[in-house]
Amino acid sequence: MKVQALKGFKDILPAESAVWQLIERTAREVFHRFGFAEIRVPILEKTDLFVRSIGEATDIVEKEMYTFIDRNGTSLSLRPEGTAPVLRAFIEHSLHTLQPVQRLYTIGPMFRHERPQKGRLRQFHQLSAEVLGADHPRLDAEVMAMAWMVLTELGLTVRLEINSLGCPACRPDFKAALDDFLAARAGSLCEDCERRRLTNPLRVLDCKSSHCREQYQTAPAIIDYLCPGCAEHFTAVEQGLDLLGIPAMRNKFMVRGLDYYTRTTFELVTDQLGAQSAVGAGGRYDGLVAQLGGPKLPGIGFGMGMERLALLLAEQGAGTTPATIDLYLAALGETACKQGFRMAHALRGQGVRVAMEHDNKSLKSQMKQAGKLGARFALILGDEELASGQAVLRDMTAGSQDTLALSDNLQNWAAALAARILVG
Ligand code: ATP
Ligand code: MG
Repeated sequence: MKVQALKGFKDILPAESAVWQLIERTAREVFHRFGFAEIRVPILEKTDLFVRSIGEATDIVEKEMYTFIDRNGTSLSLRPEGTAPVLRAFIEHSLHTLQPVQRLYTIGPMFRHERPQKGRLRQFHQLSAEVLGADHPRLDAEVMAMAWMVLTELGLTVRLEINSLGCPACRPDFKAALDDFLAARAGSLCEDCERRRLTNPLRVLDCKSSHCREQYQTAPAIIDYLCPGCAEHFTAVEQGLDLLGIPAMRNKFMVRGLDYYTRTTFELVTDQLGAQSAVGAGGRYDGLVAQLGGPKLPGIGFGMGMERLALLLAEQGAGTTPATIDLYLAALGETACKQGFRMAHALRGQGVRVAMEHDNKSLKSQMKQAGKLGARFALILGDEELASGQAVLRDMTAGSQDTLALSDNLQNWAAALAARILVG
């Protein structure tokens, strides 16, 4: 039997990892500019945490979680998203007592048992950020602006869509209108919607079936039922985005697939990835910290899918140059190989990216390898050169070369060569 990865679980091979590193580096850099600090949380939690936060009657909890019973009989789940574990940690360590407003981000794998396709995997990766303890509408705009800046700095163009899901005070009137609307269509909805119509009516608006979606075009929209506080908040969020010159479009049908959202919700969407149109999404969740047993504090956050960002980078041609090496050390003869081994180590200590092999191959074969690796320089060291205290330094781009004096002081020699190589 051939050993293979699980369906929907993908290896990120060396040829792709430069793009992943670029995404991660850019995100960290931008997050830090906005005052966010990294938190790293476990990938496994008690199932109950996700049931209580994401909601029982959601796609994620009903059909997408990797859940199992451990040896102690406890139900555990691989995290399907980042907000719940981060909030669990925030509450457990009383982080609000250190700083009334916490700005946290985390980067890592998430797990959902979905049908794998382009941009949809069972293990995928998110960049996610949360702000806990503040609810100013300009903060909502700031959080969206941060996600936007990550995309801009990656050279990506997407659309920002926003909506408001109101608060518990706006819900009863809206729910009544939605119940009436759905009752009038009973029997013509898909199986899931028929069931959710009774268990969690808001969720039907999220249905992926085109037959249902078509009917919901005329469904009541929560944005038309906002209480004065929520309406004012939403207007101020739009003004905030406007102040920063970030174009946002209202999408009154956006409901999001998690139950915990209140007020502002948003999605970063593209038409370039087929059905997997969302590269990022998030929103405000003012009741969630208390709901999980923590203090009564508001929160807002988002998650961006790294696989989709990588696909979009390829699509929009904003890729990266693969990691190259600075210097290939070609040693010929056993004495030169030993000395070269020490030189390579000293140069690496000075920050130079050095490649060297240990099997004393022909010069031709080593130079071929240097070219393959994209080395900018090659240092050629033979036993004879070594005896006369010299080596040859070849500039691979210019095609020129000159002799380089060796020295007994290896550290100084390496530092001088590093200074020469690392400029430009
Ligand atoms: P979708 O509508 O595409 O299923 P979602 O609403 O379930 O997305 P969220 O839970 O909001 O997604 O997660 C935030 C982001 O994580 C998404 O915008 C997407 O970029 C990414 N994402 C979600 N599920 C997957 C997956 N199975 N594979 C790859 N990326 C994903
Ligand atoms: Mg989904």
